Amino acid sequence: MAQGKAGDYRILHEAALRDYLAGLPDIAALLGAEPVSWSITEVGDGNLNLVFIVKGDRGGIAVKQALPYVRLVGESWPLPLSRAHYEYLALSRQAQLAPGLVPTLLHHNETLALTVMELLEPHIIMRKGLVAGTQYPRFVDDITTFMARTLFFTSDLALSAAEKKEAIAAFAGNHALCKITEDLIFTDPYRIAVQNRWTVPYLNQFAASLRGDMNLHVAVSRLKLKFMASPEALIHGDLHTGSIMVTDDQTRVIDPEFAFYGPMGFDVGAVIANLLMAYFASAGHERSPDERRAFEAWVLGTVEQVWNEFARKFLDLWRADARGDAYPATLFAGETGSARLEAERKAYMQRLFGDAVGFAGAKINRRIFGLAHNIDFELVEDPRKRAVSEARSVGLARALMVDTAEFPDIASVTTAARELRTWMPEFATG
Ligand code: ADP
Ligand code: MG
Repeated sequence: MAQGKAGDYRILHEAALRDYLAGLPDIAALLGAEPVSWSITEVGDGNLNLVFIVKGDRGGIAVKQALPYVRLVGESWPLPLSRAHYEYLALSRQAQLAPGLVPTLLHHNETLALTVMELLEPHIIMRKGLVAGTQYPRFVDDITTFMARTLFFTSDLALSAAEKKEAIAAFAGNHALCKITEDLIFTDPYRIAVQNRWTVPYLNQFAASLRGDMNLHVAVSRLKLKFMASPEALIHGDLHTGSIMVTDDQTRVIDPEFAFYGPMGFDVGAVIANLLMAYFASAGHERSPDERRAFEAWVLGTVEQVWNEFARKFLDLWRADARGDAYPATLFAGETGSARLEAERKAYMQRLFGDAVGFAGAKINRRIFGLAHNIDFELVEDPRKRAVSEARSVGLARALMVDTAEFPDIASVTTAARELRTWMPEFATG
């Protein structure tokens, strides 16, 4: 890891980046030939940072540099460069725990808030593939391995109490990024906020009811508190389908700059929510009725398997690798003890499922009423059609958040989604 004097930060645009990389022998060797011949393209389509793809005649790399402000908004919204440090730290840990499921780290410079990593090619952002109606057969196995292993091995089930608290401390400074989540996901969509937007005029009534619905305000506030006050494990913190790059047979999780010790259900709920939005958005992308029926069935099947496989893998790890200080083995000795512990594991997963369901609802609402929207809906050009997909999503989101207990298993979630798929809001029929 390269260090420099604090204050030496500068934004490396093309020429400066070329010089910088030319000064790193391993990276220069990987790219090959003369630095002048390297192609450098800025591809950052994200909300926060610069991302460059650099290619030489031997190979390519991706370079990510944090800016001292939120890219989507500009210099008026400052954001600490230290997020690059936390992203690097999280990526390193994820690479150990879930090898092959994150891009390989090649170089990191703390002062420049810059990370060089493996170029993912021909991978595309999964969200784009879902908009196009592409099915990803490897996805369930890969994402559930990623979540089960990164969450289990950073939890009190696997770590000693001392290791766990040191690990919490190592990420505690990433609070500015947590605050973005706390504001943009758990607060702003439920009040008047300048950054909010939604599909007008169709969703005006829906936006107003989000602001007036006290049951929803209680639900989202409970979720917010859970997010703030539950350092269960090292979570990715932004695990949507725009943070996953895929090919037909590979899955890579990128962009863990929101990582911190938080509630596991937030990551699981993020994956489920984004699949559910891909499902509801699909109707807006079809050129003829039911054209995407097979894709939509695959998406809902994937939602079910994401939870079921995650739970199975997490439980298997718990049964095999419980070296942490939680649930001391001495308290669960003998046949009675192991039966009680197994029942307790199931109860734990049931609570985690409820968390994931609630967080999934909150993740849906923020994409429809908050600052950051997603292309699943945005690329539906006809606003009325888009609003229909969004309104169905919002109907499910409210139920997931307020009536969480009515979803005892993942099949009840997909059943509710399937029922809403044919629901026509008044603005669509009137
Ligand atoms: P941000 O934090 O600003 O959202 P991301 O880490 O999500 O930035 O990266 C933005 C975009 O850059 C991604 O959507 C993807 O298209 C591209 N990208 C990021 N990392 C890589 C990589 N390792 N290989 C190829 N493309 C990448
Ligand atoms: Mg991103």
